[in-house]
Amino acid sequence: MKQRILIVGSGFAGLWSALSAARLLDLHDHAQTEVVVLAPQAELRIRPRFYEADVHKMTAPLEPLFAAVGVRFVKGLAERIDVAGKHVEYRDAQDAPATLAYDRLVLASGSKVLRPRLAGIEHAFDVDQIEQAVRLETHIKALAQLPQSSARNTVVVAGGGFTGIETATEMPARLRAALGEDADVRVIVIDRGSQIGAALGDGPRPQITEASAELGIEWRLNSSVASVDADGVTLADGQRIDAKTVIWTAGVRASSLTEQVPAERDALGRLHVDRNLQVIGQDAVFATGDVAYAAADEAGNYALMSCQHAIALGRSAGNNVAASLLGVAPIAYSQPKYVTCLDLGAWGAVFTEGWDRQIKFVREEGKRLKTQINSIWIYPPAANRAEALAAADPLIPVVA
Ligand SMILES: Cc1cc2nc3c(=O)[nH]c(=O)nc-3n(C[C@H](O)[C@H](O)[C@H](O)COP(=O)(O)OP(=O)(O)OC[C@H]3O[C@@H](n4cnc5c(N)ncnc54)[C@H](O)[C@@H]3O)c2cc1C
Repeated sequence: MKQRILIVGSGFAGLWSALSAARLLDLHDHAQTEVVVLAPQAELRIRPRFYEADVHKMTAPLEPLFAAVGVRFVKGLAERIDVAGKHVEYRDAQDAPATLAYDRLVLASGSKVLRPRLAGIEHAFDVDQIEQAVRLETHIKALAQLPQSSARNTVVVAGGGFTGIETATEMPARLRAALGEDADVRVIVIDRGSQIGAALGDGPRPQITEASAELGIEWRLNSSVASVDADGVTLADGQRIDAKTVIWTAGVRASSLTEQVPAERDALGRLHVDRNLQVIGQDAVFATGDVAYAAADEAGNYALMSCQHAIALGRSAGNNVAASLLGVAPIAYSQPKYVTCLDLGAWGAVFTEGWDRQIKFVREEGKRLKTQINSIWIYPPAANRAEALAAADPLIPVVA
């Protein structure tokens, strides 16, 4: 009887797990194991671009690629993982209950922005999932139909981390594209930190500060949002900011499916995994991408919830899950090189290397790299069997 590797999720980690598992099975000429990907859509959603305009274009089809490498795609949403019974219960394309058994499971169901329980939070937009990002885009385009007011021309970005900064610095151009080049637009970042870009450390702070000044982005530091409504936000200190557009970017949490695997999780909900990305204490379950709490090197650094890590984690998890069925040696996940490429809108971008984020490229040079990363490097390989399998080698370093 055929054995089955079941991968839940078709994001960066799920896609690369599937390709890498198919690659190792192919190398061992092993046709008795099928690789199945279960996800709500057979497409890669390019989350790192969801703060940009034209967000509906930020997907890449996966069906031709899966067909080329012999991966079976099942459309559905996983609801329950039965670790003891080795099966996953899901809702199929017709929303009917269905079950898939597995010999090995790879959990790659990603993460979501954590919307806090604040009064009026439903009025806030986000750029975390494509549906929300499309909703924001429709809203921005419709602003021009409202009478001119300071609230109409103001965007509040809650959270000044990586996503908050990329979103905020893109907003002046997006607002002017909707409201006219001469519109008097305002973008305000609300952040709990006491310094600009605190979450990114000291390295890129001068560039973030310079870009914010040049683009007219205001920072409210040591501040937090107490409530949201259709016309703006009220801060914890009682200050009021009138804004028709509030974008929530603070806080991310691993997919809630992690809660169904009896194992230790970190503060972000990620499953503790060993160097081979097997969930500690669960021989048949691997975790990868944003759901894995994985050591990235010997120096004490852990993979971040990032595309850069998700691609490499995916290649490792796919290789090692197949290795565990083939009885061959796994290849420990290792990703000592870490880079950051932070988009700063019309100012450019800042590219850093190392966990201490040493500046390497800024402005146009940084932007050229960011454009390359966002429009080429993170996209799936072509639907060509040999090329796609070769690209999934877990020993290929990822710089994205
Ligand atoms: C605005 C924004 C900007 C970002 N910028 C960067 C950046 O510049 N650089 C960088 O490295 N990272 C960036 N990131 C982070 C990066 O996008 C994530 O870390 C990455 O997408 C994680 O990949 P993943 O495969 O683990 O999860 P995801 O890409 O989230 O994929 C999860 C997959 O699981 C599926 N899924 C979820 N639940 C279920 C279920 N119940 N059943 C079946 N399938 C399910 C989803 O449909 C999806 O296919 C950014 C993220 C955002 C939102």
